[in-house]
Amino acid sequence: MSYWHRDAFSGETLSQPLKPKLFIPGPTHVDDEILHAMGEYPVGHRSSAFSELYDEVVEGIKKVIFTQNRVFLGTCSATGLMEAAVRNTVERRCANFICGAFSKRWYEITRACGIHCDYFEVDPGRAIKPEMVHKLLETGRYDVLTIVHNETSTGVMNPIAEIAEIVNEFEDILLLVDMVSSMASVKVDVDNLGIDVALASVQKGWGLPPGFAVCSVSDRAFERSGRVKNKGYYFDFQVMERYALKSQTPTTPSLPHMYALRCQLNRIFREGLDNRFQRHKSMAQRVRAWAKKDFDLFAEKGFESDTVTCVENTMGINIADMLSQLLKKAYMISGGYGPLKGQTFRIAHMGDLQLSDIEELLSAIDETIEEMKA
Ligand code: PLP
Repeated sequence: MSYWHRDAFSGETLSQPLKPKLFIPGPTHVDDEILHAMGEYPVGHRSSAFSELYDEVVEGIKKVIFTQNRVFLGTCSATGLMEAAVRNTVERRCANFICGAFSKRWYEITRACGIHCDYFEVDPGRAIKPEMVHKLLETGRYDVLTIVHNETSTGVMNPIAEIAEIVNEFEDILLLVDMVSSMASVKVDVDNLGIDVALASVQKGWGLPPGFAVCSVSDRAFERSGRVKNKGYYFDFQVMERYALKSQTPTTPSLPHMYALRCQLNRIFREGLDNRFQRHKSMAQRVRAWAKKDFDLFAEKGFESDTVTCVENTMGINIADMLSQLLKKAYMISGGYGPLKGQTFRIAHMGDLQLSDIEELLSAIDETIEEMKA
């Protein structure tokens, strides 16, 4: 019996195999054109054909995140580059800002790497505010700050421009930003904001299958990494740069992802960056308006994410049952993450999803809730 013959939530056997459309906040829906591009015949990763592909992909990523900084490619998920970012940049002490499960993860990663660090936390659903950042940086204890732009577990989008402005007031404090669930879906002008490391995996805003990640690294972050010890090998920015200068990766990369990225970049530029960012805003507005009708939004007002809406279950419905019923109709959304299970559910509107997909999903949820009431 294949995975698709089983209800993922109840384990019940289905008569027809069912591949649900993904409205979960990663991996998100992948268009057929991308899947097809991944199947291209491989080239050797020391060949000129590879270097051409590498340059095309790196230059495209730079345009999407508005940077002239170097861009590194990682055959790993974003967590690999979250680890790389702190291992390469912290000389003294790191301040990890926490507003949910993934920002907490970055603190755990920092600690697990044996790096001196402290965390500063707000309640789930709240955003990190610039004043809080200012107060901490003023202590002079920190040389690196980590922040998650879009906290996927709570549907909060932190005010990254205002926070970056504060960080830039302090010399020698590096700003590391997890853009895992916002990159390529929300406009973030990396160079204007002075972001030193901006990172993401590709299974969210980029709309690709999982297994690959990208990051930009500023000159000062790169120089810092030249002085920092114990960075290991796989994620040492110095090693990555040596190969990047030859338009190569240090080790064998996931070529299928590079083909997919090239294909996706072409699609993104065909759509137009502004149109892409606007599409995400429109989908988010639609989902928020729908959620406010019968439920509530979990994110603090004014800080709601443009890529994932975390809905507070004020109606008290059985979320597990709703997810299971939706899956039978071939739609997959997510329950609450960790401690928010039962209390919230999440609808992703990122990557290649269109407003028409969202309309279809919302009708299916409405219909399911009516059926559950009957
Ligand atoms: N950061 C955020 C905001 C995320 O949403 C996720 C995954 O959902 C991660 C980090 C971890 O990413 P990955 O699973 O690609 O390592």
